[in-house]
Amino acid sequence: MSSIKQIPVVETKRTNPLARVFDDLVRFCRSRSLFILHYCTGCGAIELPPAMTSRFDMERLGIQPMVSPRQADILLITGYVSIKTLKRVILTYEQMGSPKYVIGICSCTVNGGMYWQSYATAKKLDEYMPVDLYIAGCMPRPEAVITGLQQLMDRIHSGQANSWEDYYRNYDYYLGNQQKLFGENWQTPTDVITEAKHYDLLSEGTLGDHTRLLEQHQKPLEALDMRLGHELKEPRK
Ligand code: SF4
Repeated sequence: MSSIKQIPVVETKRTNPLARVFDDLVRFCRSRSLFILHYCTGCGAIELPPAMTSRFDMERLGIQPMVSPRQADILLITGYVSIKTLKRVILTYEQMGSPKYVIGICSCTVNGGMYWQSYATAKKLDEYMPVDLYIAGCMPRPEAVITGLQQLMDRIHSGQANSWEDYYRNYDYYLGNQQKLFGENWQTPTDVITEAKHYDLLSEGTLGDHTRLLEQHQKPLEALDMRLGHELKEPRK
């Protein structure tokens, strides 16, 4: 497994004072209206219902669950991620619109936690996708979840929650780690490189040996390998 790259700090502030005021207002509004994708991966998910419901009530912060990745801002990874699940997590992340944020809840997302020796789980989430914030613990209490969300809000407001840009700038690195785990035929239907161009985030790390492998795939959707293990039957006539 390759070592984790240092994420380069990119200065994105504009020089025009009016534009900076406008950017600050946009970031403030964005940080106060966040949808969390309703998707859970491990036992840490059990702390989310109390964080959402009346006692801790995360909606008072402007945060609520959302069922579709297209409308969600935050992907919460709530515990250990099996290799099978990680494929779905990456696909889901790529389906979310930018800017998007990832929070790793539980020690299992940081270093594998109690599953560190398991052959079936991914140990370090940030080798496969950029993570904005970790909330460690086995499992973290709802107070920790709420504090983590507030920290993310502060980072969004101050313009520091830019990990989604790192996925475009260093796509070859993330794709390389994904290919090591899933095989060289791994590919999602998302055209990340075209998205990187769209956001003007194409950089040296976007393209490389691993993205070149994508060009060799003849039937990209077959390589996704997400079938449920049985062939689809012909419809009855
Ligand atoms: S850190 Fe503990 S509670 Fe969280 S997913 Fe791992 S084993 Fe479960």
